[in-house]
Amino acid sequence: MKHQRLDALARADRVLNDLSYGYVQDWLGRGADRHAVGYLPIYAPREIIAAAGMIPVGVFGAGDALDIVKGDAYFQSYICHIPRSVIEMALDGRFATFSAFIFPAICDVIRNLSGMWQMNFPDQYVKYLDYPQNFDPEVGGRFYRRELEDLLENLVRISGREVSDAELHAATARYNENRRLLDRLYDARSRAPHNFPMSEVYRVVRAGSVLTVDDHNRLILDYLAAAEAEPLPDQDRIRVYLVGAFCEQPPLGLLKTLEQAGCALVGDDLLLGMRFIRGDVATEGDPLDALVAAYLTKCGWSSAVYDGDNPREDKLVEDVRACKADGVIFCCPSFCDPALLDRPMLQKRLDEERVPYASFQYSENTGQFQVIREQAGTFSDSIKLWE
Ligand code: SF4
Repeated sequence: MKHQRLDALARADRVLNDLSYGYVQDWLGRGADRHAVGYLPIYAPREIIAAAGMIPVGVFGAGDALDIVKGDAYFQSYICHIPRSVIEMALDGRFATFSAFIFPAICDVIRNLSGMWQMNFPDQYVKYLDYPQNFDPEVGGRFYRRELEDLLENLVRISGREVSDAELHAATARYNENRRLLDRLYDARSRAPHNFPMSEVYRVVRAGSVLTVDDHNRLILDYLAAAEAEPLPDQDRIRVYLVGAFCEQPPLGLLKTLEQAGCALVGDDLLLGMRFIRGDVATEGDPLDALVAAYLTKCGWSSAVYDGDNPREDKLVEDVRACKADGVIFCCPSFCDPALLDRPMLQKRLDEERVPYASFQYSENTGQFQVIREQAGTFSDSIKLWE
């Protein structure tokens, strides 16, 4: 079974390490009527894209695998790294076969990137997708429904074929299955983090940003089966909730470094969009209304999501308690405004709750982890000794 665990991880790595999106190109090559739709973090309603017969592709930047040459000319130095690497990849032609891009409204950086896209790639449909900040179905719900209708209409225009309610329901059902499997994987990790190290779980989850939902569901099942059949040995690590990495992703080496420093990640907001809707979306009635209702009533929390009636500090404490974390690590991209502006408020609440925490920043192309290893190791030791 050990080789089956490695086999599942190798399948994930194949898509993650391929900056040319070979898996997507293969999928597109199987029919002239096929289209790829890229989307930036955090969340995009992938059900609509899949129902339109298209493949949704999460775009998180190139990590440390690409030197940024042209991208630096597009953005000032004191912002995060992800927009530079995404525009660098685009200018290199890596998204030339994509028909559309969705830019979720999460911060000014993503807004500016969407404008650059419109100027540089006029042949691609660009949707700047705004999300409700009012959670009343008659206000924010109606607004969001119009956003989804506009997205669907434009995808239909691109594909040249109507999308039925039955197709939307069928796609929603497949993503419901994906959400259930991801919950199962996260529950398994929380119960036995030594057997589901984040450096593995992360790759299995992230592969779903490129794979079709059916291929991703198979990958999660295979990984779960292999890991449960032959567990890894237990480790003496503290249980950590990691917060702040909802958009630009940390390098895999950083996650491995945290584990080597004695921290088992049992909760996190990495790749948050894949798990953003918590629970099933209804598969009967009006399918767009179902997606709207899910957003209004079941969406996760993050510093980039406004929900005035549900303070984020409460949500953080709830999550920390639910996953029985010993402490919190604030792990944010350098200059990520939403994450860094929220941090003092979240830390204040953790102080009140007497939850220990540590903080550091990263960039997706960070290559040196020694300082982080020392910080995280000290954090882990201090909890083991004193808490
Ligand atoms: S990392 Fe933060 S600042 Fe940068 S694009 Fe994402 S949310 Fe915006």
